[in-house]
Amino acid sequence: MKRLIPTAAVLLAMTGWNVAAAQQPAQPPARSITNITGQLYRAQNANHYTVFLVTPEGVIMSDPINRDFARWLKGEIATRFRVPVRYVLYTHKDWDHASGGVVFADTAEFVGHVNMLKALAPPAGNPPLTGDDAKLDANRDGLIARAEATPASAVGQRFDLFDYNRDGFVSGAEIARGSISDVYAPTTTFTDRHTVTLGGKRVSMVYLGTAHSDDSAVLHFPDERAVFSADILQVRRLPNALSPTVGSFIDALATITALDFEHALTGHALAGTKKDAEESLRYLRELADGVAKGIAAGRTVAELQKSLTLDAFKGFERWDTVREAHIASVYATLKGTK
Ligand SMILES: [Zn+2]
Repeated sequence: MKRLIPTAAVLLAMTGWNVAAAQQPAQPPARSITNITGQLYRAQNANHYTVFLVTPEGVIMSDPINRDFARWLKGEIATRFRVPVRYVLYTHKDWDHASGGVVFADTAEFVGHVNMLKALAPPAGNPPLTGDDAKLDANRDGLIARAEATPASAVGQRFDLFDYNRDGFVSGAEIARGSISDVYAPTTTFTDRHTVTLGGKRVSMVYLGTAHSDDSAVLHFPDERAVFSADILQVRRLPNALSPTVGSFIDALATITALDFEHALTGHALAGTKKDAEESLRYLRELADGVAKGIAAGRTVAELQKSLTLDAFKGFERWDTVREAHIASVYATLKGTK
């Protein structure tokens, strides 16, 4: 494939962006560390959260989130607790939770579901650019050059995380793989369940099936009676997309609520209790039941989007923006058209 040298105009445009970026005041993300119970802590980086458990022999933590945050957290842990991070336990592969683990590679073992390794494999095949990504390819050479990636686009914002082979171009295969180039690969994998022990403490990872991504695990802290899950367990907040199906989310939340816990710790927004996890499961079941009954009664999607209001969940974040899409998604699944 031909790779064109950027024109002078393109280079000038790039310089313009860099100047604009340099003039933006640096907004440090909101960061905090909150004690949950005992030696279990929840740490925040803007809208993302992770957890860590301190033991006399070191720290067992979950997602590193990104390099800047991981460096900050490593410093905080060293200063406050004077022990190294011994384990990084991944909730799933997505770039916004799993990036930056390399910061802990000098002392930690990394554990993830076996499907995470598959997802991190080199980009395969030669799929074409599609949709908005194809529109970025101004010179239509089948690749997005750095200068073609507008600052507002996903590729523009995370160019280096997509550009697996660091050749300055993002291909269709690199987009299909995702912006996961800074995700440090697990050194230990598991299929159904995995338990790590350190300093007299235990943390178990339990596989959650195909909901959201096919490599998700919930972390269970039995002594602290806590769980941590990113993007599947939410507190008073509905999932974004029910991908691949509502059934996968029901199964995953049923797996989580079967565990013994009091503290429901999430990768985004609020933390809560087991009752909150059960409420999220109840939303999914009422959604699925409501759509199934509607289909049996010969209703259309549009009719159900009007009548199936699921009012009990009105106060949940995203209720007003995702409820109709959830109904359409469940409808398509039950009709077999998805
Ligand atoms: Zn995710």
